[in-house]
Amino acid sequence: MNPTQPSAWHNALEQLDIVASKINLDAGIHARLRMPKRSLEVAVPVVMDDGSTHVFQGFRVQHNTDRGPAKGGIRFAPGVDLDEVRALAMWMTWKCAVVSIPFGGAKGGVAVDPKLLSSGELERLTRRFTSEILPILGPEKDVPAPDMGTNAQTMAWMMDAFSQNVGYAVPGVVTGKPLSLGGSVGREEATGRGVAIVAREIARRTGLTLSGASVAIQGFGNVGKNAALIMSREFGCRVVAVSDASGGFYNAKGLDVEVLAQLSATGGALPKVFDAGRITNAELLELPCDILIPAALENQITAENAPRIQSKLLIEAANGPTVPDADPIMRANGVTIVPDILANAGGVTVSYFEWVQGRDEYFWSSDEVAQRLERILVNATNEVWTIATRENVNLRLAAYISGVGRVSEAMRARGRWG
Ligand code: NAD
Repeated sequence: MNPTQPSAWHNALEQLDIVASKINLDAGIHARLRMPKRSLEVAVPVVMDDGSTHVFQGFRVQHNTDRGPAKGGIRFAPGVDLDEVRALAMWMTWKCAVVSIPFGGAKGGVAVDPKLLSSGELERLTRRFTSEILPILGPEKDVPAPDMGTNAQTMAWMMDAFSQNVGYAVPGVVTGKPLSLGGSVGREEATGRGVAIVAREIARRTGLTLSGASVAIQGFGNVGKNAALIMSREFGCRVVAVSDASGGFYNAKGLDVEVLAQLSATGGALPKVFDAGRITNAELLELPCDILIPAALENQITAENAPRIQSKLLIEAANGPTVPDADPIMRANGVTIVPDILANAGGVTVSYFEWVQGRDEYFWSSDEVAQRLERILVNATNEVWTIATRENVNLRLAAYISGVGRVSEAMRARGRWG
């Protein structure tokens, strides 16, 4: 957590409070939604390769399960703490509701820099973490998926650790698994594809032509890289800048993202050298471009740099990349902000497809996955746009009205107990 920024949880609560007053949310439901349903903090001792024992801190938070099992990724990153994880869990609740899939919201994480661990250490860390949070996991209870610093291999280890503990194979306990374990085709690229679909839908409505449009992307991991490839391959966008944690590359004429994708490592590290100018992450965010896509961390756009954001569209591929104070500044400058809970919902949507296919033990083709993803995201974008127009509110508030409204409807229908 950056001490100079309001915490992610503070931001998440502020966003909830704004929508609660807008939709006259029942005070009891509002109070319940302000607190996660369940938070678990665990010690994760790992025998390191040198024989020493290191104890990592892990978390799993279930924000809400009124619409279905808790759903949300597992993050391995140095700054992970309870505050961040519960904010991310709350955002998952709204996201699943915005795209109308029958899941609640959760998130988990371990405070670790996965780049500093060997593959064996990572496997032991993942298995021990899974065992520690096992009592609250299960296909009907809480279903993790990959997030920053984790991938299909991490999910395979989690599935195996869970299955070994209960004594039989339980593929449905995680999504984002390898295909060989019941993963879904299209899951790997789903979040990036979803970012591209939502960007296309909003561009159409705001009169921005995508062919030749300039795009700057912060973060070149699972989400940023796939969004870059799809937007350049399928829409003819010009990706002018990309970055990783150490900075990025810029070329106003467009970068060869196919080559960059080949040269980049899993985890989103760009090559050290490339035929383009170097740029810092701060500079990338402030580039003159048509579409800016933060696809790395939260709290990247603040009241401090918001006045210098020059893009027409800001597509929030990362979770919580914009602090609430920055929103009105950018809006006043004509930036259309497409909120994370809509923009990056493609990942959880295909995770839902994976869960459904696993329960049926019947697997769809990549065309079927792509068509269903397209339909769900186009519908959700339509709905958010319609609410924004009807209520005369911005897209973030409109997405929250849709998501929080759907969750509160379910809570009202279920009633109170105790
Ligand atoms: P990833 O680990 O695959 O890639 C993260 C990228 O961000 C890497 O390129 C990394 O170098 C870069 N990065 C890390 N720290 C940075 C910093 N301080 N400044 C600039 N860049 C930095 O992660 P991902 O899965 O692509 O996730 C990226 C974002 O998208 C996260 O906010 C995540 O919560 C969100 N998201 C991911 C998914 C998914 O399916 N993977 C779904 C929804 C939302």
